[in-house]
Amino acid sequence: MAGPAAKSPPDTPSDDSLFRTLIATAVDGIMVIDERGIVLVYNNACERLFQYRAKEVVGQNVKMLMPAPYRDEHDSYLDRYRRTGDARIIGIGREVRAARKDGSAFPVYLSVGAGTLNGERIFVGIVHDLSQLKAESAAREEQRAIMASIVESSNDAIISKTLDGKITSWNAGAHKMFGFTAEEALGKPIAMLFPPERFREEIDIVAKLEKGESIQHYETVRRRKDGSDFEVSLTISPLYDAAGRLAGASKTARDITERKSAQARLQQLQDELNHVARLTEISQFSTALAHELNQPLAAIMNYMNVAKRLLAPAKEGAQAKVQDALAKAGEQAQRAGQIIRRLRDFVEKRDSTRTVEDINAIAEDAIALGLVGAKSSNIKVRTRFAPDSPAVLVDRVQIQQVMVNLLRNATEAMTSSPKRELTITTAGLDGSGVEVTVADTGPGIPKEVMDRLFKPFVTTKSGGMGIGLAISHSIVEAHGGRLRMKPNDGGGTVFHFQLPAAPPTE
Ligand code: ADP
Repeated sequence: MAGPAAKSPPDTPSDDSLFRTLIATAVDGIMVIDERGIVLVYNNACERLFQYRAKEVVGQNVKMLMPAPYRDEHDSYLDRYRRTGDARIIGIGREVRAARKDGSAFPVYLSVGAGTLNGERIFVGIVHDLSQLKAESAAREEQRAIMASIVESSNDAIISKTLDGKITSWNAGAHKMFGFTAEEALGKPIAMLFPPERFREEIDIVAKLEKGESIQHYETVRRRKDGSDFEVSLTISPLYDAAGRLAGASKTARDITERKSAQARLQQLQDELNHVARLTEISQFSTALAHELNQPLAAIMNYMNVAKRLLAPAKEGAQAKVQDALAKAGEQAQRAGQIIRRLRDFVEKRDSTRTVEDINAIAEDAIALGLVGAKSSNIKVRTRFAPDSPAVLVDRVQIQQVMVNLLRNATEAMTSSPKRELTITTAGLDGSGVEVTVADTGPGIPKEVMDRLFKPFVTTKSGGMGIGLAISHSIVEAHGGRLRMKPNDGGGTVFHFQLPAAPPTE
């Protein structure tokens, strides 16, 4: 390639200056050593790589740029090559360690070519710095190792599969959950984890993945190796290959059997609690109820006695009077019967049934039941019922129970208040529903229960259970409403809740 300078076109640099520029601007380090290892050429890039200036290296043995133990072996390599022609690196190149001036070592790719200059054997080394590349791949490897250990230590089953349903990865969680070892699962169809009646799901899943969609917390049933089924929550995401093509899917499966049975237990407990709550209320009411029932029963007795007396000596006009007394006795007996019927409704444990109801009628019933004995506590009860509030779709007994709870709490709160006023209001909400308000003039909610008012077992009463408001809250929420509390202007408490209007029937 080298030709006489005279042959070059006028604006072409001489071979010499071209060579110097090339050496000086090369990104990789370029070095020339003689056969004893003495450095003849050391370019700018070498200065950056090794931190030594050219004048510190040129004329020195190249081994100064190598870390121990290579430093001490280099002379013998050159020696052997001189004697035997046995090349370890010459003509090829490989990854080696190099040493900077500050003593730190770093990885480089060194390619070495051999030639002759002025009859002397020389070696040309090209040094490519690998530090950054190595650091990046070490970081990637570390990342991969962390991910692998997360996957391995996860309690969830983490599985990947190809688009045609072959299992391609299987972690320890999957082994524990499904019972298949990695050897048993890898390469096998994912369908072996499905109960047969769920096969169709896979078709829908693949269809979604093909649209690039992932599937979040999909609750379904899968089958273990031993044939037993269990409930899982699946999260499935598409996996793409390096070219960005959909190649498969990764699935995370979480066993939710326990969560499900805990939910069922909780529901059962809540049902029991509702039942117990009603029974507790009843036992609290029993004294007052006995009092209330006594009134019609005593009246019945009185009318009966009057009738008996009137009949004995057959007084004039007795027949009409006896008829009247018996009719009145009948009315009172009916009233006693009504009280008992309401009571039975209230205690009865039954499933929630929703019917279209008039909120004012429910409120009236609740007041009759909830304020038994309130008259004796000198409480002034006021009702303000919206005349044309929309009908609501509710479980009558449950809503009645909510109101009874609120009324009982209000009357209990006011027992030692100077002013005892209870106001029950129903109001239409622009046709979208109704709002029920129970306002008292008691002392207000005690500070210590304020934040946890609607939590179960929060009470300030010695005989209290603290479940009335918790249950009321959940009943109202189950009806799509909200039970809230606010202070009453001028002292006391206001509880209010909304219920959505029943959908129109026609
Ligand atoms: P319990 O009546 O069995 O204590 P609740 O859940 O019905 O259970 O009520 C919890 C607590 O909230 C009561 O103990 C009381 O301290 C407070 N509370 C409820 N309603 C009122 C009210 N109207 N005025 C003042 N405090 C109330």
